[in-house]
Amino acid sequence: MLRSLHMKLVMIMVLLIMSLMIVVGAFLINSVTAFYLEDFYSQMSDVFQDPLLYHDLTTPASEEENGAQQLSLVLDAYAGELGVDGRNRKLYILDSNGVCLISPDGAAAQLNYTENLTFALTTGLETGQSGDESSLALDYMDVAIPIRRGEESYIIYILDNKATSNDLTDQMLVLIVEALIFGLVISILLSFLLSKTMVTPIQKLTEGAMRVAEGDFSRKIEVVSQDEIGVLTDTFNDMAGQLRDTLRQVENERNKLDTLFLHMTDGVVAFSREGRLIHSNPAAARMLRQSIGPETTYEDLFPGGAALDQVLAADDHLEEERQVRDRYLQLLMAPFDRGREGGGALVVLHDVTEQRKNEEMRREFVANVSHELRTPLTNIRSYAETLTENAGEMPPDMEKKFLGVILNESDRMTHIVQDLLTLSRFDSERDELKLTRFSFEEAVQDIYNAVYMEAQKHDHTLTLDMEPGLPAILADRERVLQVMMNIVSNAIKYTPDGGHIDIYAGTRRGRVWMIVDDDGIGIPEEDRPRIFERFYRVDKARSRQSGGTGLGLSIAREIVERHRGRITLLRKESPGLAIRLELNIEGPDYGR
Ligand code: ADP
Repeated sequence: MLRSLHMKLVMIMVLLIMSLMIVVGAFLINSVTAFYLEDFYSQMSDVFQDPLLYHDLTTPASEEENGAQQLSLVLDAYAGELGVDGRNRKLYILDSNGVCLISPDGAAAQLNYTENLTFALTTGLETGQSGDESSLALDYMDVAIPIRRGEESYIIYILDNKATSNDLTDQMLVLIVEALIFGLVISILLSFLLSKTMVTPIQKLTEGAMRVAEGDFSRKIEVVSQDEIGVLTDTFNDMAGQLRDTLRQVENERNKLDTLFLHMTDGVVAFSREGRLIHSNPAAARMLRQSIGPETTYEDLFPGGAALDQVLAADDHLEEERQVRDRYLQLLMAPFDRGREGGGALVVLHDVTEQRKNEEMRREFVANVSHELRTPLTNIRSYAETLTENAGEMPPDMEKKFLGVILNESDRMTHIVQDLLTLSRFDSERDELKLTRFSFEEAVQDIYNAVYMEAQKHDHTLTLDMEPGLPAILADRERVLQVMMNIVSNAIKYTPDGGHIDIYAGTRRGRVWMIVDDDGIGIPEEDRPRIFERFYRVDKARSRQSGGTGLGLSIAREIVERHRGRITLLRKESPGLAIRLELNIEGPDYGR
């Protein structure tokens, strides 16, 4: 490019000089030739219009038979004025028939009958007009003048071979060629100089542009001149600066996006129009339980669902849900940069397992509530109906029994409704904990005392083993006692008569704990994870019989969690169940 610019400059200069010289040369040479031609004819007309000469030429002398000789003698006197030298400019005298009578050095044989001569011989002899026309293109100039001398007519013919003018033009040509060569040398030198001053900054600019193209923005290009190239360099520096800033911003944005993609919990996968992977984050691979590599295609990841073409043609986005092992994934698929080069489809994966589980639980809960309330209601209704239908006819003890069932069932309903209200208050967080500091030791002791009689009734051996000096804790005493009571009464309920129930309590690392360990029916392995769910009961009939609602442990867990404590099932080898309750000594806000 550099070279070509250089060459272009040289070529332009050379062509400029050459065309200039050719035009000037042609103009000069033409002017000189024209000048000579004009000069020749004006010289001729000056001489031949001289009245003296005309008189001498037209007046016949005594020996008239020698008229041509006479004419020649007269004209010899004017040889200087006519420029006739016998070599370059020759004088001929012809008679009216065109026969050459007088010629220099006997050159008559070579005489050419030119247009002017023919004109003078034909028309001129009659009209007296001279043949005096010539053109620059001819290599001679001539004039033929008809002269009437007495009875005879003659043609004075002067022929110039243009040697003088040709010599001059030749010399001029040599001069022009010399000037051309000189001009060319100067122009080549000048073009070198010019190209140097123009090309060097362009060269620098090119180098700078190449550096910028490679991403090196560290150096600015020096602005040397104030001309257009200087302005261009300045503008280029500005542009490079702006480009660097924009690139930094883009890089920043990309880093931000990368970090976002990397750490976001939702999965993101992008595909090209052809279904090739463009981008994916670790969450996507984790959620799809599949390794994602550069070779992974849309079909590999999402077979059987909406096809890529459908996603690309979608107006807004498509939604799909699919199950991957035990997880439910919601897929939002949308096209991006539609109709543009480089567009494709974006798939965002959202784990909705918890949502689905919650929905399922809510459905189950509503079904459970309806079921739990319907059973006592049906009972109440049927017993009340029987009582109404047989009013006054039933034995009084039977009536009493029926009324007792009705009362019992209403109590159960009240119980369920109360429990549900408690749970709903927890759910809506309307229930504030009434925190007070009270003795954990005393609380455990109170529970022990409260259930002691009940345990006795069932022939259970109830023991209490407490570490000495248990601290006072900050908690909602009533709620904590409710939890403790639930755990202990469950142990009594679900342990066949004559069982062993041991209560332990102690403190560790800022927390107090209580374990209630029984040797009752225990909980089958598969039910253990669900034991704290609402209405969940291993044996519904047994629970109902003992007045249970299946809500006790879920309420207990809510209370404990609100205290930022823990309630867990312990693993044990022997039959029965062991539950551990753990609470912060310093209350729910401790360690936040
Ligand atoms: P319920 O009112 O039915 O007792 P809970 O929520 O207190 O409801 O308990 C839920 C279920 O857990 C009970 O129905 C029972 O099947 C089981 N369960 C609770 N404690 C024990 C225990 N100590 N031994 C055996 N099963 C228990």
